[in-house]
Amino acid sequence: MIDSAITSEFRRFYMEHSDTEKCWQWLGNINDKGYGTFSVKGKKYLAHRVSYLLANNLDTLNLLVLHKNDCHNRACVNPKHLYAGTHRDNYKDSIETGTDTRGERNGNAILSDSKVAQLRADRRKGMTHAELSEKYGISKTQVSNIVNKKSRK
Ligand SMILES: [Zn+2]
Repeated sequence: MIDSAITSEFRRFYMEHSDTEKCWQWLGNINDKGYGTFSVKGKKYLAHRVSYLLANNLDTLNLLVLHKNDCHNRACVNPKHLYAGTHRDNYKDSIETGTDTRGERNGNAILSDSKVAQLRADRRKGMTHAELSEKYGISKTQVSNIVNKKSRK
């Protein structure tokens, strides 16, 4: 899910400190909750979440990425200040920010409802799973789950 376009865009917006105690302040956009965000190809990503996934070599994560108590700086993207936790159940497994989480709240939700509809339409037009995976930035397994309606009713 995290491709090189996301990685290179992410790397533009913070100052890395060799001192691990220091916060890596996000220099890009900050959302209304105080978290750093950035966009790639029209999709929005949470900076601290991407930072944690990259640092831990993960593609996806079914947990929230939270700031440690001694940091508490939501705009900080120092992976050493982050940990994965479960503040809420069924938090969507996605690094995308979403303004409307209704219908997207379950853990399998990767794309917005409109994107899912679009993906299925593309599939009916004959696009392969590999092409869809590329276009929507998700894995082929996720594509086939969506096509086979495993992720959504
Ligand atoms: Zn910090």
